[in-house]
Parts: sequence; structure tokens; C-alpha cells
Amino acid sequence: MDRCNLNIKEGYFKLTERYLFSDIRKKVNDYKKEYGKEVIDMSVGDVAYPIPRIAVDAMITASREMGDNVRKRGYPPENGYDFLRNALADRYFKNGVNISTDEILIGDGSKTDVALFADIFDNPATVIIEPCYPVYIDCALMSGRRVYNLHGNKNNYFLPLPDELEKQPYVIYLCSPNNPTGASYDKKGLEKWIDFANETESIILFDAAYSAFARKDFVKSVYEIKGARKCAVEFGSFSKFAGFTGLRCSWTLIPKDLKIGEKRLLEVVKRRKSAIFNGVSYVTQRAAQAVLSDKGCMECSEIINKYLSCSKLLRKYLVDKGIFATGGENCPYLWAECPNGVSSYDFFENMLLNSKVVCTPGAGFGASGEGFIRLSCFQTEETVLKALSNFKLSGIFD
Ligand code: PLP
Repeated sequence: MDRCNLNIKEGYFKLTERYLFSDIRKKVNDYKKEYGKEVIDMSVGDVAYPIPRIAVDAMITASREMGDNVRKRGYPPENGYDFLRNALADRYFKNGVNISTDEILIGDGSKTDVALFADIFDNPATVIIEPCYPVYIDCALMSGRRVYNLHGNKNNYFLPLPDELEKQPYVIYLCSPNNPTGASYDKKGLEKWIDFANETESIILFDAAYSAFARKDFVKSVYEIKGARKCAVEFGSFSKFAGFTGLRCSWTLIPKDLKIGEKRLLEVVKRRKSAIFNGVSYVTQRAAQAVLSDKGCMECSEIINKYLSCSKLLRKYLVDKGIFATGGENCPYLWAECPNGVSSYDFFENMLLNSKVVCTPGAGFGASGEGFIRLSCFQTEETVLKALSNFKLSGIFD
């Protein structure tokens, strides 16, 4: 036998050959090999600063417990330890949102939490706002869902509303503050989405991975919007809020009011979780609990403010140059139009060759991203100043 007589699901053949960021990494490595030069990587949204001290201390204490005969822990509860779920409920309460502990499920990253969630529904019509975090589209394709794209563009400031959608039940992915565009819906915009979802008996999967960056006048949680408890699931992550990209911890919030037919969605998801997930490590959950304390939040805010001052600096440079840009204010991503009608992949190459800065080509986030690039400002100020100086010297945005 030289091959198995099985079929791979059709949707897998619709995926692009490589994941966007693997593709970029390869191009940058080729460039370094050819020119032997250092580059400034502003493509991937990974964090520049280490996790807060308070989280490190909590992990040291928790590690010691794990090495102790009496205090060691075995398998964690699949939905998370109560100490962390309570800390999250408290943090929501302090931000004006009432959530009960048992509506919160702990996971090991929003990428998996968001991506796999819609598999629960039987072949749902899925609304994806383009350009988007590539995971939504890849997972919809792999599971063979019918996808309805809504297109972000300059006219709607990359924040399309449901007006043009046919009225039927959907699974709707919303991400605000948004990756890749950095744009954020205001309350009015989100109200329109929540009203639409309730009217059409749809569900909103609200990806709040960047909510810690939302400034005043923008919501930190979808449940600040009336009616959201009936139609929205919220996904939160410690990755960008507390620098946990390498630690892995996240949460999913499913209100008890959210029913699919006669079934409470929360119960269905819990049952699935118990079948496929063995929980997040004790040490990681203690670190997550620590960053939710008042002191922990203050330490995180200091870092968040550093990222936001970097993105504001870059935003100002672009806007002063007359470049159309979104983001940078409620999210450290800048989404900028390529000058002179250049395509996003060509501009990516130009920027690498002439400014030694790596961006992400907008077309990698879907066809509506053509003609744009994303710059990640999860950087130190020193890096952003160096990038700015390279932009000025090369005149790439002129
Ligand atoms: N959702 C969005 C919109 C993201 O941009 C990212 C990471 O970049 C994630 C989810 C993944 O977060 P996590 O690190 O918790 O898996």
C-alpha cells in the first residue's frame, strides 16, 4: 500500500497553500539570507515586553506548590479554576458588566476558542467581515460552512454594518477593536449588530482579544450593549492584554440567557469541552489571576499605554503624509493605504527592500485588504522610532 484510501474534506483544498504569517516569515528569512541585514519586524502581532512582574511572582509561587507533595495539583478543571473565573467576574463587574462565574470558561488561547466554536452548529451560514483575522475564514472553509463576506473599505472606515445582509440566521464574527484594521465599532454600530442578530435569531461571536486597548467611549465588552446577552458569545485573551502569547490563557463568556432552540448554549459547550479538553495549567491560571488584580491591571495598563503611544506616533506620521489610515488609537495596529495605488504585496516587498521594515500585506487578510498594509505597534518606542526614521529616509510613504 503506498497511500490510504480515504478522502480529505473538500474545504481543506480551498485553503491558501500556507498560513499568512508562515509565508511572511519565509520571505523575511530569504531576504536576510540574501542581504544579511537586520530587519524591523512589524508584521506579527506578538508582544515586545515581558509579562508583568506580578504574574512572574505568581508563577514562582505556583510552581513551588506543584513541587510540594501536599499542595501539588493534577488535572485542572476543564472549565478553569474558580479562583480565575471569580477574578474575571470581578473584573467585568468593576467595568460595569454583570457576569456570573459559571458563565466563564477558561481556555488556552482565543485562536482555538474562536476558531472551533462555530463547529457546534449544523452547517450554519457564516458572516465574516473582510479584511479579517485569517483564522475565521480558514476554519469556515475547513468545516465547509457557507460564508457571506461583508466588505470593509474606505467608505465605511472598515466597519461595515449588517444593512445589506439578507434576513436569515447566521453565525456572525465580529472583532472590535479589530485585527487587522485597528478600527473599533462605537456603541451605535454595535447596537445595530446586536439588534440585527436578535431580529434574525443569529449568534454573534465577539472576538474581544484587543478590548484592553479600547479607550473611553468604546466598549470593553459586548455585554455593555443592551440585548447582547441573548445573542452574543464573547472571547477574551490574556495574550495582548498581559503579554501571555507564550503562556497561553483565554476565556469564553456564554450567557445563560443564550439558547439555541430549547438548549442552553452554555451547557452544550461545557459538554463538548469535557469531551475534548483537559484544562489550562495551574501555574498559568495563577499568573492570569494575578494580572486581574488591581495591581496587575495597573502593570498591564502601563505596557498597553506604551504600545498605544507607539501606534499614535506612527499614525500621526502617516496622517501628516496624507495617507488614509485606520487604527492606532484603540488598538496598536495601523491599517494604511499603500501610496500611489501599489498592490499590498508589492508595497510589502518595497518596504522590506527600501526601509528594512516588515509589514503584513493587506491582501493576506482577504480580498478587501488589497491596496492596504498592516503595521503592528506591539513594539518598543525605540523600534518604532527606528522604523519611522527608515520610512523618512527611504521616502516610502511619499
Ligand atoms: N483573535 C484575534 C483577533 C487575534 O488577533 C488573535 C491573535 O493575534 C487571537 C484571537 C489569538 O489570541 P490567543 O493568543 O489568545 O490565541
